[in-house]
Amino acid sequence: MKCEEAQELITALVDEELSHLERASIEAHLGDCLRCRWAYEQEQAVKREIHKVGVSISVPAELKKKILTYHGIPPKELEFPMGWNKMALAVGPLLRPAFGLAILLVVLLPMIYLMQPHTQPISLAALEIQEKIMGGELSLRTAKDQNELRHWHIRAVNGKFAPMDYDLSSMHVRPVGGGVQEINGRKVLVTVYSGNNMSVTCFTFLGTEEDAPKSATPFFDTAKKIKFYTFSRDRLNAVLHREGDVICILVSKMPPEELLDLARVKAHQA
Ligand SMILES: [Zn+2]
Repeated sequence: MKCEEAQELITALVDEELSHLERASIEAHLGDCLRCRWAYEQEQAVKREIHKVGVSISVPAELKKKILTYHGIPPKELEFPMGWNKMALAVGPLLRPAFGLAILLVVLLPMIYLMQPHTQPISLAALEIQEKIMGGELSLRTAKDQNELRHWHIRAVNGKFAPMDYDLSSMHVRPVGGGVQEINGRKVLVTVYSGNNMSVTCFTFLGTEEDAPKSATPFFDTAKKIKFYTFSRDRLNAVLHREGDVICILVSKMPPEELLDLARVKAHQA
């Protein structure tokens, strides 16, 4: 039995609604799957709690009235032939699975949400990294020259890909440092170029054009046959393009048109 099947049967097992065969099969799985056994124990605990609540529920008349009024139920309907205790006992068994599920949803969903890994798109994470670089929160490796940085970068990704290097020396802009960041399990090579009162950071990683934010503005360079995607956040502008299976994002405070021009001039068709 697979975990997915086991997870589906756990509630029924706790509620003793399984056939002999199903029961034997899930019990065998619980015997050697720690994760499913944990889920089973949680489900049992929830059931115990609900049962306790079901038998002990007792609401003072005043509060009962307030709750019902709050939910817009007219006072006439306030009179229950039986007390809420008996009500809970009578309807309890019917409500319990649904109530249990509701509790699970209310308690577990926010937990599951909080436990999710940080899944910010890589393109937006690049903008955040750029903020950190500008704020001096991220220390960069300085290199003698572009070549040294390039070799260090290639080694950092075990030769799987190379950074998209730009020769901006004609603009008196040179690489001043680099780094390697891991975003959602992907290695991103960072090269910071600076000089002539401007700064551009290049982020290179393995990816597809899907890595462009949904809100990005596409631009198709008919001469180079390359699609560029421009996007901005706060004071930062970015241009993404693909060469083969390598994605490059240039990030700068430069005006978006100038940054796009720079990316277009330097891009190569893969
Ligand atoms: Zn399992």
